[in-house]
Amino acid sequence: MGLIVQKYGGSSVGDVERIKNVARRVCETRDAGNKVVVVVSAMRGETDRLIGLAKQIMKIPTEREMDMILATGEQTTIALTAMALHDMGIPAVSLTGAQAGIVTDGVHTKAKISNITPERIHGFLEEGNVVIVAGFQGQTPEGNITTLGRGGSDLTAIALAAALKADLCQIFTDVDGVYTCDPRIVGNARKLNEISYEEMLELASLGAKVMQSRSVEFAKKFGVIFEVRSSLNTNPGTIVKEENPSMESVVVRGVSLDKNQAKLTLFSVPDKPGMASRIFKHLAQASVNVDMIVQNVSHAADSPATDLSFTVEKADLAKACRVIEDMKGEVGFSELVSDEDVCKVSIVGVGMRTHSGVAAKMFETLSEGSINIEMISTSEIKISVVIRLAEGEKATQALHDAFIEI
Ligand code: ADP
Ligand code: ASP
Ligand code: MG
Repeated sequence: MGLIVQKYGGSSVGDVERIKNVARRVCETRDAGNKVVVVVSAMRGETDRLIGLAKQIMKIPTEREMDMILATGEQTTIALTAMALHDMGIPAVSLTGAQAGIVTDGVHTKAKISNITPERIHGFLEEGNVVIVAGFQGQTPEGNITTLGRGGSDLTAIALAAALKADLCQIFTDVDGVYTCDPRIVGNARKLNEISYEEMLELASLGAKVMQSRSVEFAKKFGVIFEVRSSLNTNPGTIVKEENPSMESVVVRGVSLDKNQAKLTLFSVPDKPGMASRIFKHLAQASVNVDMIVQNVSHAADSPATDLSFTVEKADLAKACRVIEDMKGEVGFSELVSDEDVCKVSIVGVGMRTHSGVAAKMFETLSEGSINIEMISTSEIKISVVIRLAEGEKATQALHDAFIEI
């Protein structure tokens, strides 16, 4: 018994029947003597629909207005969930992010939570209510509505669990937990009973959308242990927590595929100090996150120039191209080529710190499948490669077969 934060994602509130199912689950948790704070996402597909509408009006929508429209998705769900509880005779109050005291910076569509004042939530809980908070949104100190990046309801739940000092944080979704790979891509992927924050963070930022990566970063920072589990059954889920020594015995914990990548190449960038700094400073100022970067060796000894490739999220591609074209005069490259037919495949595991030969085995596996590697990046606990999009699923399955014990 205690205070429990439960988050239900878009598929768990995808239609009216599913919303009633959520209300029943919340009711069971409350009947067991707990105070319950529920975070809900927009109904499945709704956020994409709203983005589509905005883009029909404007190719690159103005970001403040984008947040204004996106926040309506979650606002619909909180009201419906509260009504479903009222219909069962349970006192419940719905709150937008702003009403729940979630304050963010002003970076529209990717805002960071700066502070939560949970007094209002506590007040409603004390009165015996279930409190239902709109995920994915907050408000700047000036009163502008912001959103927290795609998948941001996970962050709302984890941040609220930290701010409310909750006894338990549960992320309900449409799979039984965190698997060794997306079970929709690799049919024989296995559910993990536990995973470390670091591994979950890498998997999430490398494409495993079961958790938003920023939410995992937040959980690690504030020590919020959470469980990922299904809203459609009562199977135990996956516990995400601090690493323990036994976790290093597994070399590769999971494989992920990110199809949401695009590659940009700038040809003939003058090979002299300050060029990379200019290019990436402008991109950073436009809030474009750059992932992998590869600079080729210089060609043409008389006027040295080099080709520079890097990856960004597909959603940022139009903005990144615009920023780069705008600096063409300043940087002096010859041509910009963008390529959306790429993807990133990664293997992740804390055991890589203590085992050698992992990269060699990964490249050998890909070469056996005649898959060409275009870019490589590594960290202590992951290896990622950029390959052709069409080969992504085949590569993911091959790496899962090679590294994961079933
Ligand atoms: P929600 O709407 O509940 O937020 P998401 O669609 O964001 O759910 O995330 C759940 C989906 O994440 C699953 O349906 C699954 O296809 C996908 N997924 C990707 N990688 C993994 C993984 N390693 N383990 C489990 N699910 C994964
Ligand atoms: N509705 C938002 C999205 O689709 C946030 C979320 O579902 O977590 O990205
Ligand atoms: Mg999600």
